[in-house]
Amino acid sequence: MNRVERWVRPNIRNLKPYSSARHEFSGTAHIYLDANENPYENGVNRYPDTLQMELKEELSRIKEVPVQNMFLGNGSDEAIDILIRIFCEPSLDEMITMPPTYGMYQVYGDINNVAIKSVPLTPKFDIDLSAVLDAITERTKIIWVCSPNNPTGNLLSSDSIEQIIKKFDGIVVVDEAYVDFTNSVSWASRIEEFDNLVVLQTMSKAWGMAGVRLGLAIANEYIISLYNQVKAPYNISIPNQERVLELLRTTDINEQVNAIVHSRDELVTQLRDLDIVTEVHPSDTNFLLVRFRDCQNVYDELVQRGIVLRNRNNVMMCENGMRVTIGRPDENNELVEALIEIMNHSNQ
Ligand SMILES: *Cc1c(COP(=O)(O)O)cnc(C)c1O
Repeated sequence: MNRVERWVRPNIRNLKPYSSARHEFSGTAHIYLDANENPYENGVNRYPDTLQMELKEELSRIKEVPVQNMFLGNGSDEAIDILIRIFCEPSLDEMITMPPTYGMYQVYGDINNVAIKSVPLTPKFDIDLSAVLDAITERTKIIWVCSPNNPTGNLLSSDSIEQIIKKFDGIVVVDEAYVDFTNSVSWASRIEEFDNLVVLQTMSKAWGMAGVRLGLAIANEYIISLYNQVKAPYNISIPNQERVLELLRTTDINEQVNAIVHSRDELVTQLRDLDIVTEVHPSDTNFLLVRFRDCQNVYDELVQRGIVLRNRNNVMMCENGMRVTIGRPDENNELVEALIEIMNHSNQ
């Protein structure tokens, strides 16, 4: 047994997965009477491909990751949940997160009854490496690293990430939901080097497909085979697969990503000029963490003007902070104008 296999929950290791009709016969035939489908064509009367091969082949070209190293989920949410179910024994095992970070690791930990140890980021929002390594116990199964991090917006130290991957006898997840906004090399290029590395990516942000729900887990073939055993057999619907394929073949995200990054840098300068803003954190993403003198007041005033930001005031280390997604130029301008108006009112 290799070491990753030893970390897998015994019930999962011994699982006999459901063998679907499409699994038992994977050749081509001209009459399919094996799945109790309705025979009259309407575009969705047949069950979808359980492994989404056509879609994976297109993603494989774009991401330069072999198809057998990819799992596709109904959003990253599914990839997070399944990973916990593969490796963590409910009420016994533990995971480590580094707040302030993405909330879903904690939510799926809670749903699966897997304890979370929080090791806060440093005041500069980077990994506190010795604290993370100190927090590892015999029951720690997964360490969640979000880089670039949500809601702080910055890439985390790749040296520290590498140290964690090398020193931890367990799974390290690097969530790269925002990687397409950076120039940094994806950790996906190193899955063969590290047997314990799982990389998460998503179509929801730079790719503009939040509504379709498609997330990726990228890892070695063994971990992907576990994903495929645990997932629901037909987890990605035909309309979902077709829509993503069509968009992948017709969109070039570079132009939009460049526009968003340009707007972001412009917005940083504009926001830093405002008296009601106390800090704009540097960002490698499509959002900014912005601190205000009185964040709740600004939030309420903006809502009255029909503009919604993500209030992070009550999140650890984000006091008086709001997460501002970069919009279209006209939307960003309207935001800045509204903030100037709020500022002038509060000065009177
Ligand atoms: C938005 C986001 C995701 C994507 O979630 P989906 O379920 O794929 O839409 C994943 N991780 C982080 C950190 C995010 O901010």
